[in-house]
Amino acid sequence: MKTVRCNLCDEDDWKIRFPANGNHTLGPDVDAYRCTSSEYGSHLQIVECQQCGHIYANPRYDACELLEAYSTVEDETYIIEQAGRKKTFAKHLKSVEKFTQSGRNRELLDVGAYIGVFVEVALANGWQAMGIEPSQWAVNYAQQKGLPVLQGTLDAPELHGRHFDVITMWDVIEHVDDPSAELDKSFKFLRPGGLIAVHTMDIDSPIARVMGQRWPWLMDMHIHYFSRETLIRFMKKSGFEILWAGSQGRYLSLGYLVTRVNGMSKPLGSLVNKLVNFMDLGEVLVPVNLGDLITVYARRPKQAPDTKSSGTVRRSD
Ligand SMILES: [Zn+2]
Repeated sequence: MKTVRCNLCDEDDWKIRFPANGNHTLGPDVDAYRCTSSEYGSHLQIVECQQCGHIYANPRYDACELLEAYSTVEDETYIIEQAGRKKTFAKHLKSVEKFTQSGRNRELLDVGAYIGVFVEVALANGWQAMGIEPSQWAVNYAQQKGLPVLQGTLDAPELHGRHFDVITMWDVIEHVDDPSAELDKSFKFLRPGGLIAVHTMDIDSPIARVMGQRWPWLMDMHIHYFSRETLIRFMKKSGFEILWAGSQGRYLSLGYLVTRVNGMSKPLGSLVNKLVNFMDLGEVLVPVNLGDLITVYARRPKQAPDTKSSGTVRRSD
């Protein structure tokens, strides 16, 4: 475990927002890093920067340990949940297309593409889409389906010298050790005028405030907790021009929602599970928007030079 400075303002001035919960002496638990991990309630110490208000896990595991945990992650539940993801991503793609020209032969990179569901949706809509993803298992699954998903991160040599019209990060930025660096790199990978979409949870949303430490997104695998305001500040710091920021929901199957209810209350989860099974509703997709998921759409300004991130030296410890 290492103590870290604030990734937004680089200060080391914080107070505890939520004390650590669960056992963290043995290093990252791979099971906790599945996309659909239901290990709610277990999280590292979460602190709030006294200078800029950014909220993050501190101390936390080393970036290499994190990447290692993600590289070996396997998640069969995610595959079962594909119908919901597909519908959610189709909706996300429509939003992307509101902020840029539609896809015909334009290049899109999905960062943290996992098994390639968004890449598949984008390809079907005429985009020249590809994904990058650290989990070897997820990449194998995507490649077996013929989807162009590479194993690695934005540092992958295959991406060297490439440029894209759109970069998307769906539920990814809260997992990375150094979001500022990821955004800086994304800026450089975008063509001038190119669009970025970043989707994450909002710790400043009314439901997160009301639930406090019981908010289910406080989890081991989440290390940065953004508000709409701090996410916008991160993106502006990397040079982006903000186009829109707001809450966007997703589709989940009832069967999957039950597993989430179960994470919060076992008796209630078991009751709802019986009901859903009895009525055979497990596959039914329902739109869910509790206002605690935000998307920011931003663009690399047309005239912006490529030098923004090259001069930035970041301290991560
Ligand atoms: Zn700060």
